Amino acid sequence: MSKLFTIFGNPVSHSKSPLMHNLSFKGLDYGGCYTRYKLEDGSQLRSKFFELKLKGANITVPHKEEAFKACDILDDFSKKVGSVNTIVKRDGKLYGYNTDALGFLKAISEFKDIKTVLFLGAGGTAQSTSIILRDAGYEVEILNRSSKRLEYFKQNGFTTYTFGEFSLNNHYDLIVNMTSAGLEDENYPCPVLFLEKLFPKAKSCVDVIYGKETPFLKLSKEYNKPTKDGSDMLLYQGIIAFEHFTDGKFSFEEIKDYMQKAFIL
Ligand code: NDP
Repeated sequence: MSKLFTIFGNPVSHSKSPLMHNLSFKGLDYGGCYTRYKLEDGSQLRSKFFELKLKGANITVPHKEEAFKACDILDDFSKKVGSVNTIVKRDGKLYGYNTDALGFLKAISEFKDIKTVLFLGAGGTAQSTSIILRDAGYEVEILNRSSKRLEYFKQNGFTTYTFGEFSLNNHYDLIVNMTSAGLEDENYPCPVLFLEKLFPKAKSCVDVIYGKETPFLKLSKEYNKPTKDGSDMLLYQGIIAFEHFTDGKFSFEEIKDYMQKAFIL
């Protein structure tokens, strides 16, 4: 019988995950079917999971912290960051993982000679990715327009700046747009003067937003640097989730062959 998977979130109508996973199930001849589920109340996640008789699920905004609480067994990294985006049921127990951060790490590890990294933005995605990057040996600093979200990073020992505290003499190998600026508007994530000072000295630039060339990415390309949007991060977190869903039956490269087709359809 086919195993059932879903993505829980609110909203979820835009999500590419059903297409990504269904292409891989079909291509690899694995009996799985992946749907989407708009969940308004995150505290219902665990009961919905069992009610729908799921084998696994991805969790997107705004339920990643609730997903963390819904699990019986957590991997070390999700324990550290307090958020889960992938759940798999084994022997009636829910296992939780965070594949977003690993996907981001893999995406940027394809750039050469990166040591120092500046994150523009301090939201949930920046929280988990900053920790995994530091664990992997990168030096990460955080720049955000307001101070409230910087508290988490300060408590975790990162150097942080609001716009007013930032020095334009600073330079970094990699500049990352971790904000939602540019997603549904044409905003830069920080004053454009900052980018004009940072880009010439950077080796590469990444935007976690995908499916759209943001003003940040457009400007970075003018400096002829290697760039990426958020597609590789999305693809890689999906492949790693798929590895968990299918209990390691398929290799990363095998899954990638099918899952990446979702980005050209
Ligand atoms: P959050 O809502 O948790 O945080 C948003 C951050 O963006 C805050 O730091 C906020 O600053 C900043 N921000 C928003 N608008 C502006 C603006 N106009 N100018 C400057 N700063 C701004 O977001 P998430 O961490 O959940 O998501 C961040 C981005 O990551 C989104 O664009 C999302 O689409 C993308 N993403 C991509 C994934 C992928 O697979 N490629 C996976 C997950 C997320 P402040 O604190 O001052 O409000």
